[in-house]
Amino acid sequence: MAVAASLLVAGCSGTGSGKLSGQDSQAVRVTPNRTYQNVSVAARALVPLKLPTSLLAEVRVHKDYLPRSARGRRGQSSMRPRYITIHSTQNWSRGADSWRHSLALKGSKLGSLSWHYTVDENVAVQHLPTNITGRHADLNGPGNKYSIGIEMCEHRGNSRTRTVDRTAKLAAYLMYKYDIPLSKVVPHYHWPRHGMSPAHKNCPHFLLDNGRPGRKWRGFQAKVKRYHDQITIQGPAYASR
Ligand SMILES: [Zn+2]
Repeated sequence: MAVAASLLVAGCSGTGSGKLSGQDSQAVRVTPNRTYQNVSVAARALVPLKLPTSLLAEVRVHKDYLPRSARGRRGQSSMRPRYITIHSTQNWSRGADSWRHSLALKGSKLGSLSWHYTVDENVAVQHLPTNITGRHADLNGPGNKYSIGIEMCEHRGNSRTRTVDRTAKLAAYLMYKYDIPLSKVVPHYHWPRHGMSPAHKNCPHFLLDNGRPGRKWRGFQAKVKRYHDQITIQGPAYASR
């Protein structure tokens, strides 16, 4: 300990120009922790306020992939996700929840359309692995080539608040997993659909103002950011328990 203490002093009083040897840096790092109110070194480590896996568990993702024979899986290519695209189903039919959409996709009832997740008040059903493309945004554009598509249910009786909240958690987790910035979590509106009218779809309509991103979209972004902060901002482990 005497040797470690002297090295520590030498380090603090130096000009900072010299790089510490491995032995020196260990003394600097370990000595103060061992003398800190009997709290172990491990317990003082910095950790996220919430574990990413805990946030993901709250989303309640169920994998129910489209079979390779489904129309929605034809002609797909591999993908490294760079964006997350948020939609709403505009399907107000009774019982049109995540599982019902999964059934429709698996049975090729929605033509060649496909996306990665459908979210409702209870669960998020995953239809495609996130490393292959879906067809949900902009025909042959970057929205389809590089984004994970998330649909929010809006059938009667489904809580919109809980659905949006679950979607925000899922988006935050996927941002973390693929290192996607908040600016690349976008509404379907973001992607122009060349040759279609209107080119910018009013989707997800209940998170847009007069068909465009505004106050409501910023509110959604703030919610996603709060969840992302929970799993990325580091704090002392003993403060979060
Ligand atoms: Zn859409």
